[in-house]
Amino acid sequence: MKKKKSAIIIGAGLAGSLWAVYLSKAGYKVTIYERRSDIRLAEISAGKSINLALSSRGWKALETVSVDKEIRKIAIPMYGRVMHDLEGGLTYQPYGKEGEAIYSVSRGGVNARMMDIAESCGEVKILYNHECVGAETEKGIVYLKKKKSNQTFSDQADVIFAADGAFSAVRYNAFQKLDRFNFSQRFIEDGYREILLPARKDGGYQLDKNSLHIWPRGRFMMIALPNEDGSFTCTLFMPYDGGLNSFNNLKTKNSVEEFFKITFPDFYEIMPNIADEWENHPLSSLGIMRSYPWHNGKVALLGDAAHATVPFYGQGMNASFEDCTVLHELMLRHNENWVKVFEDYTKYRKADGDALQDLSLHNYYEMRDFVSDPMFLLQKKIEAKFSKLHPDKWTPLYSMVTFSHIKYSDAYNKGMLQDKIMKEVMDSVDNIESNWDSQEVIEKILDRI
Ligand SMILES: Cc1cc2nc3c(=O)[nH]c(=O)nc-3n(C[C@H](O)[C@H](O)[C@H](O)COP(=O)(O)OP(=O)(O)OC[C@H]3O[C@@H](n4cnc5c(N)ncnc54)[C@H](O)[C@@H]3O)c2cc1C
Repeated sequence: MKKKKSAIIIGAGLAGSLWAVYLSKAGYKVTIYERRSDIRLAEISAGKSINLALSSRGWKALETVSVDKEIRKIAIPMYGRVMHDLEGGLTYQPYGKEGEAIYSVSRGGVNARMMDIAESCGEVKILYNHECVGAETEKGIVYLKKKKSNQTFSDQADVIFAADGAFSAVRYNAFQKLDRFNFSQRFIEDGYREILLPARKDGGYQLDKNSLHIWPRGRFMMIALPNEDGSFTCTLFMPYDGGLNSFNNLKTKNSVEEFFKITFPDFYEIMPNIADEWENHPLSSLGIMRSYPWHNGKVALLGDAAHATVPFYGQGMNASFEDCTVLHELMLRHNENWVKVFEDYTKYRKADGDALQDLSLHNYYEMRDFVSDPMFLLQKKIEAKFSKLHPDKWTPLYSMVTFSHIKYSDAYNKGMLQDKIMKEVMDSVDNIESNWDSQEVIEKILDRI
């Protein structure tokens, strides 16, 4: 009898568990080694974002292997963003065209459902408390340590995927030892801390459930995404150091209370015991890891292990899921010749990983600084009007990234060009604040594209 094709995946996180479904449906015997214990049995680890925004690229990857229906059951649509100003005033901006939404999903919920599906759809075995400590990429061997006994052993497969996240052990212990492997790591000056805004006593939501909420405050900001139980996970992004509004300046309960009272007054009103909640959640760092190439021998890097980014476009998981779409398409195209699949994967996808990281930083500045800038809001208004009039000529950058499957690198290049055009047009029209709605503006944009 012909031996079954075998695959090893390191990491049963978001990318690893979805990719296991793909491989098992393609007839592979899959073994996943996961460092943590089974999240379906344990509380989800504190400190990681407990909800995430899922958008079109992620949905497409889930649909291909029919996982989407299960995830839709736990997904909350967010049709736009609500900006909260210092006086508690609200401004609403839809995300896309009518009906278009991004979806708030629980990280643990998505992960657990995908593990269930992976285990039920073929020969997938997930071994928890198994930490990968090294790999021999050419031979397709991984080295593992059982966390409870410290016993070490090795395993081998036809093909191996390192989906072990931003601090990938496979990347660090194997790829980074290779000649001509490029790697860079950049932590931004800001960290994040999560705060859980509870549901109302009657179980209802304290803020509009179908929006992503933002409190932009110049050099820092807070966002909130809804959870299924009526609560919101709020995330404060702020510099570690530097002046009054920095994490290192908020060391006492009093300083935390004062900070929220002054900076987020409408939130402070509805948030009980902010100082206690603050202490319950750790401060975490944010970084961008770039690597190249994304494969060597029988091993490929997948998801954050290849292209970890800062979370400001809400695309890290979506991009990791899109890696599965791309690998699957290449797998079919090359009839599972993994040498060719991996070569094309790195070649095709690397530019998109880089572009996503650039886009994420760009959106960080946009959310942090610009969404409270009237000229920025005006620019978005003109773009929205123009794209409604000429949808075949102009798709806003946010929509290209979030609601389309255009390569991230193409979206980035088009978006930067659009920004340049808008700035030129706005500079060239007298009194643009009153004339933004004029035919002159439309014609000037048409002239430039
Ligand atoms: C604050 C924050 C907010 C975010 N918001 C969004 C969002 O709204 N939308 C979005 O699309 N993305 C978002 N992201 C990004 C998203 O979380 C990641 O891109 C995504 O989790 C990547 O999936 P992954 O499977 O590659 O890595 P992970 O989900 O990190 O999974 C890696 C897995 O590997 C395991 N592992 C690690 N080391 C080893 C080892 N040595 N041996 C065995 N197993 C190991 C880990 O335990 C884990 O289970 C956010 C990230 C952060 C930090």
